[in-house]
Amino acid sequence: MVNLKMKTIDEFQDYQERIDSICGRTEVSQACMAMLKECRRELCVNFPVKMDDGSVRVFTGYRVQHNDTRGPFKGGIRFHPDVNLNEVKTLAALMTLKAAVVNIPYGGAKGAVVCDPKTLSIHELERMTRRYASEMSNLIGPERDIPAPDVGTNPQIMAWIMDTFSMNKGYSVLGVVTGKPIDVGGSLGRFEATGRGCMICTLLAAKHYGIAIPGATVAVQGFGNVGGNLARMLAQKGCKVIAVSDVMGGICNPEGLDIDALLQHSQQTGSVINFKDNNSITNDELLAMECDILAPAALENTIHEDNADTVKARLIIEGANGPITPEADEILNDKGILIVPDILANSGGVVVSYFEWVQGLQSFFWTESQVNQQLELVMSNAFTEVIKLSIEHKITMREAAYILAMKRLDSALRLRGIYP
Ligand code: GLU
Repeated sequence: MVNLKMKTIDEFQDYQERIDSICGRTEVSQACMAMLKECRRELCVNFPVKMDDGSVRVFTGYRVQHNDTRGPFKGGIRFHPDVNLNEVKTLAALMTLKAAVVNIPYGGAKGAVVCDPKTLSIHELERMTRRYASEMSNLIGPERDIPAPDVGTNPQIMAWIMDTFSMNKGYSVLGVVTGKPIDVGGSLGRFEATGRGCMICTLLAAKHYGIAIPGATVAVQGFGNVGGNLARMLAQKGCKVIAVSDVMGGICNPEGLDIDALLQHSQQTGSVINFKDNNSITNDELLAMECDILAPAALENTIHEDNADTVKARLIIEGANGPITPEADEILNDKGILIVPDILANSGGVVVSYFEWVQGLQSFFWTESQVNQQLELVMSNAFTEVIKLSIEHKITMREAAYILAMKRLDSALRLRGIYP
């Protein structure tokens, strides 16, 4: 649960209510609806790790497997100090829907460790990751559940998980995680894939909305893997990225920021703030910027009922998972803002994860342009299906994406049946 300005947000309850309301408007079976509203398996572990000063610290970790009707469980691992079970359950459920929207043969899962990785030494981070991987070893595996990076985790952490799992098996298991470094079975293009997928959706949505891309003004909240790559790629397409922010704060320049130099600055200093002589802004000011495109690409619930009304963008691309609360969603829809929902907009990461898994299982690796071409194909097919459904039924893109995903899940469930 996230405590936001004294109002407690129960994300999983919000998710369940959204499923209820969408099921009410489509012919998804009662069985499918009941299954989607709960998580199949939830594991919570408290495990010890030796710290550099000789003390032992106990960390709490989770792995939630939401649904595997369409294929093995799939989803990232988050290292964050505020992460909790409810959040992991919601993110796991979103993964099920995400895989179904883009029609890749996966179910949904999510994992997390409650920690601030920035405060751990590299050795502590490695020991903690390896112990967490061991605690998860009965749940994960290439045919079972395949983790990947998420907020606070990266390719090096995936390499440690792959190594820990492989050491216990006695042979190298490439398919147990995705988002690995290239030298240990990662896929070319995976690192940038979520940002690239967001960029593809932005171009398609802008075309649909009549926003000319060269010269379009963009504000990006979050300058990590997703926001950073999205800003870079949109700048390359000729957009004017006028504002970006991270946890420390934001900066803006109405003439457009130099994104390549900003990426370097943020890598060197750990934040976008204090970049050259640009104006500083707060995260809330960024969300309220006068711009064509807004990409919330940080954490959940950043646009809520108290600030939704200030949003002036024409188009929102949800780079993060769940950045808009249901109340804010309604306000933004009433304002006529087109929202490309998370389960479509940020699905590029899991799509290329799927390519990485396929490449690892076959020990046959693709070129970067093959990966990018296939990603573009999968994303534009999904985008076209969602927008078509949304126009036909006069519903939002979020409702259309949920309906498309739920119909695919329902069909798979009907064909498989309920065991026994
Ligand atoms: N963590 C990413 C997401 O939320 C990627 C998951 C994956 O590649 O499995 O979509």
